Amino acid sequence: MKTVLFWFRRDLRLSDNPALRAALNAADRVVPVYIHSPHEEGDWGPGGASRWWLMKSLARLDRRLRDHDSRLIIRQGDALDCLHSLLASTAAEAVFWNRLYEPAVVERDRKIKEWLKQQGYHAESHNGALLVEPWELRTGKGEPYRVFTPFWRALSKRDEPDSPLQKPRTLRPTAQWPSSLALDELKLLSGIGWEDKLETHWQPGEAGAGDAMDRFLDQALVDYKTARDLPDVSGTSRLSPHLHFGEISPRQAWHRVRSRMAGQAAVEEGGWTWLRELGWREFAHHVLFEFPHTPDQPLYSRWQDFPWRKNHEAFVLAWQRGETGYPIVDAGMRELWETGYMHNRVRMIAASVLVKNIRAPWLSGAKWFWDTLVDADLANNTMGWQWSAGCGADAAPYFRIFNPFTQSRRFDPEGRYLRRWLPELSKLPDRDLHAPHEAADGILHHAGLRLDRDYPRPIVDYKSSREEALAAARAVASA
Ligand SMILES: Cc1cc2nc3c(=O)[nH]c(=O)nc-3n(C[C@H](O)[C@H](O)[C@H](O)COP(=O)(O)OP(=O)(O)OC[C@H]3O[C@@H](n4cnc5c(N)ncnc54)[C@H](O)[C@@H]3O)c2cc1C
Repeated sequence: MKTVLFWFRRDLRLSDNPALRAALNAADRVVPVYIHSPHEEGDWGPGGASRWWLMKSLARLDRRLRDHDSRLIIRQGDALDCLHSLLASTAAEAVFWNRLYEPAVVERDRKIKEWLKQQGYHAESHNGALLVEPWELRTGKGEPYRVFTPFWRALSKRDEPDSPLQKPRTLRPTAQWPSSLALDELKLLSGIGWEDKLETHWQPGEAGAGDAMDRFLDQALVDYKTARDLPDVSGTSRLSPHLHFGEISPRQAWHRVRSRMAGQAAVEEGGWTWLRELGWREFAHHVLFEFPHTPDQPLYSRWQDFPWRKNHEAFVLAWQRGETGYPIVDAGMRELWETGYMHNRVRMIAASVLVKNIRAPWLSGAKWFWDTLVDADLANNTMGWQWSAGCGADAAPYFRIFNPFTQSRRFDPEGRYLRRWLPELSKLPDRDLHAPHEAADGILHHAGLRLDRDYPRPIVDYKSSREEALAAARAVASA
């Protein structure tokens, strides 16, 4: 083929990009394209933090392409219309892309592929985002998995993933480029400057993903098994946004970790624990693909009738603002607002308090995370929220409810995480920091803290809200 289009989506990298490699092998000239069409993603077009990331990542991708005499052609609108017009203006004969798994996008892509083929174009999609395609793993009964452990057993029994592909030497640029929008014209930023602060915490793009991987391997892999649960320690990889936007592929990550493990007994345990987390990402995509109703509805329909608190809106607002009076939750929500990220342990606690104690619908939390997380990912976010609400795949039994105070004392014993995000509590002694509403008046006075003025009391009483949640869940579970 003379000319083909390569459609970048969430595979914003040059190395280990199977569809890009296939396009380069098939053609003399490759035109790289990005099409902005959030309206085609159902209710789940990218949120605020994701749009910031996307903007930065596309800019860096374009720069990398230009280093190879290529460039990114940017369009906006219905993807099919944009492809149609680009095929005509470049006289391209084919479109190549890597697959995505969100229900609305799967459906859109299916129609596009069908249309391309009907029109006589070559259309070719590849797996660039997962270790295994969601349809490749089945239980003994031939059904999709709903429980992680057997899924992981089946995944880890397979051969190791193929070695990643090297970065291409040439990108086969054309001499005549079609017109492109400027990145600014996509209006990805909110205009209120909220995203500016994200810049200090993240380095979007393929090079940033490589740096994050190197840091993790050198500094955190060895202690990952224990340090991953401590929110004040840099004990995890922080690769989640890079994986979401495809700036590093899971098999690149897999092989980087596996080669670090080779012959080094000290990192064996941390290595496997981390690869298992990558397995959760695979499981989340498997569940999303097989159960496409789950972004808005529970996997198990009986949970549809769970009696959420009436008039929960003001409670949700306090939760979003980090003003619940549960310090570990408030610290997490403020970390999220400032950095676009929240530590996994704290995500679990913050989600549990929202759905179990406040008893607000899990979707209200999922939507806030969607807008504010730089790693917002429909598969992982849906899995995390349904797991926390007890209505999804592999969810904890309904009667197991996190105690946020105990969790806080256990995973942030010296209160370093709490003090970083809640400076108003910083003078409290360690033992009172986790539950200031229980501290004696003298201690509060000594720490210069007045409850209700400087920091709220819990917006719901932990013990009674727990009992109410249990009674509600018991009724649903036995219905
Ligand atoms: C309520 C809730 C919502 C969540 N929403 C998201 C989300 O929108 N996007 C997202 O990527 N993760 C989400 N997670 C999962 C997890 O919190 C993040 O993946 C993790 O904190 C990212 O940090 P890391 O890259 O340093 O993780 P590491 O500990 O270094 O893990 C490596 C990778 O494994 C994957 N991973 C780890 N834990 C999980 C998990 N529980 N489920 C699925 N994949 C996992 C991620 O891709 C992660 O980058 C959510 C968890 C909860 C409880």
